[in-house]
Amino acid sequence: MKRRNFIKATGIAGAGAGLLPGTLNLNAATFRKEGKTTPICIATWNFPNASIRAGEMLEQGATALDAVEQGVMVEEANLKNTTVGKGGAPDREGNVTLDACIMAPNGDAGAVVYLKNNTHAVSVARKVMEETPHVMLAGEGADQFARQHGFEQENLLTPESAKAYKEWLKNKEYKPLINIENHDTIGMLCLDEKGDIAGACTTSGLSYKMNGRVGDSPIIGAGLFLDNEIGGAVGTGMGEAIMKSVGSFLIVELMRQGKSPQEACEITVNRIVKQNPNYKDFQVAFLALDKNGEIGSYCLHKGYSYVKYKDNKNTNIPSQYYL
Ligand code: ASP
Repeated sequence: MKRRNFIKATGIAGAGAGLLPGTLNLNAATFRKEGKTTPICIATWNFPNASIRAGEMLEQGATALDAVEQGVMVEEANLKNTTVGKGGAPDREGNVTLDACIMAPNGDAGAVVYLKNNTHAVSVARKVMEETPHVMLAGEGADQFARQHGFEQENLLTPESAKAYKEWLKNKEYKPLINIENHDTIGMLCLDEKGDIAGACTTSGLSYKMNGRVGDSPIIGAGLFLDNEIGGAVGTGMGEAIMKSVGSFLIVELMRQGKSPQEACEITVNRIVKQNPNYKDFQVAFLALDKNGEIGSYCLHKGYSYVKYKDNKNTNIPSQYYL
């Protein structure tokens, strides 16, 4: 389907479109009786407000694409979350730069990297997907594109993150910590009642990263990949390790070859262990969902968990781990 037709078919008009009223749909059971797929939302880490938002939308019949966008937007706007969206920790020069991508069931994808002045990087990424012939826009070009499409220009550095940055400047020590705030990217996968899968991934990247550094999160195949015939995968943690393994793509391809989502996540983390002699020093975690709604999750270090919203219930589930 051509991009324009796809937009029409899904009824998506612009940034923030597709937001459904926040009430639960009591007809969810009816959908099942009619043979529709049971919707599922899963997301990295424990961001319950995000998975509840997306899960409720899915119960109300929203498309997976609308649900992932609106779901991760909750964390982008959460000022207490110092690793996603506004309030995210800056780089070493004090710039807050956001990376995000989104993927639709028809295989279309959009991404932005080094976005400086817009909270909702995922919505800018969706605009790139829907309104341009490209997949990714970077830096000033991404900001210019966002401005041209009416996204509010904002200073993403909050007083709290400015204060933490000032503290950091005292020692300027760069040491990504395992399972602490600087690995809190939100990656989300949704399966809607039609059985379609969409995904999104959004982050401010590693805290106090080098100016210009881009991680795995906005890279299709690394931080996110899906194939609507097979399933999808998202990653979080040390982006450099995820990029080198093209982790999310690998997981989907392993599922295509018949591996379960769990097996596929485990094989991928094992490969990262082999590739990186220093694997004990960082965290990586993957989350996968297949077309049957089966979930897999695996990480290097204990302490990572994911959220699942299914049948009107939101659950935080500790992941299995390598070490
Ligand atoms: N994967 C992200 C990055 O490398 C960081 C994270 O997940 O916390 O930018």
